Amino acid sequence: MLQCFNTTKYSGGRDMAEAATLIGIAEPVILTVDNGGTNTRLALGAEEINHIEAYPTPVSYDEAIGKLAATASCLLQGKTLDAVGVGIAGATTDRRLTQAGKLQENGWCGRPFTEDVAAALGVPIDRVVLLNDCVAGANAERVARQPGPDETGSFMVLSTGLGGALYTADELIPDEPGHQYLKPGALCGDGAEGHVEAHIGGAGIAKKFGVRGEHIPHDDPRWREIKGDFHEGIAQMLERYRDDLGLTLRTIGFTGSVVLGGPDMMGGLQRSLRTVFGSLAPQITEAIYRDKSGLYGAKFAADGLLKAA
Ligand SMILES: [Zn+2]
Repeated sequence: MLQCFNTTKYSGGRDMAEAATLIGIAEPVILTVDNGGTNTRLALGAEEINHIEAYPTPVSYDEAIGKLAATASCLLQGKTLDAVGVGIAGATTDRRLTQAGKLQENGWCGRPFTEDVAAALGVPIDRVVLLNDCVAGANAERVARQPGPDETGSFMVLSTGLGGALYTADELIPDEPGHQYLKPGALCGDGAEGHVEAHIGGAGIAKKFGVRGEHIPHDDPRWREIKGDFHEGIAQMLERYRDDLGLTLRTIGFTGSVVLGGPDMMGGLQRSLRTVFGSLAPQITEAIYRDKSGLYGAKFAADGLLKAA
């Protein structure tokens, strides 16, 4: 027997949906998934996503697919799915995970993820879109901010690690900002010495200083060092985008526990970037959909599938 752990009851909702279908105004039913290395979140796509089911991501790939399908079935309460958007913590190619941190260690890479999700949920494979989770976040920022033809922005997460992706009006560009060399003195989770996220990500801070960031007082000199590395890492990233891609960012939308929980992280970054880049410094701000950016971005990608169909 399937255990549905949500407490919301949709009394009458289904009848209303069916009535709406009869007069041809029903919204498509979209499932959006944020499959992180540590936690997985699911929601039905809506203009405002409020009801989210969350659980620790199972170590086993097969168990994770089963849990995803069972949780989706609880959310759907008998409704038929039209499309699915999944943001996942890793690089994706050809409907599979090709490179990831924790999920790679757990043997998820190379498995036919999109195909397995489609089969488990009973939807055609061309109604499932798989994106890197930061690319999904960038998609949410792109839709919310509506960049003009020559405008570029980025979505960034500074929590356990540092992730990010870029967007233009019509393109999403994956990136690995956390895994660029900054300076020696910290070992990254991928085994490399001196990567940016080893100095400023939550896991890196805990390893480098022997104490978690939330237990370091805001006026402690260790935060001064972390913030200096943050400013330097982002400045290098912007130079890399300018030199390698010819792109100048107008906006960086941030989310994540370290950037939001540390001492004036965004304000400090903004001031530092203005001194380096002057009027070409991007605007530093919070991501519009905050910690739900991945869920909204995957939902918008699934909307796109249906529009293209
Ligand atoms: Zn690294």
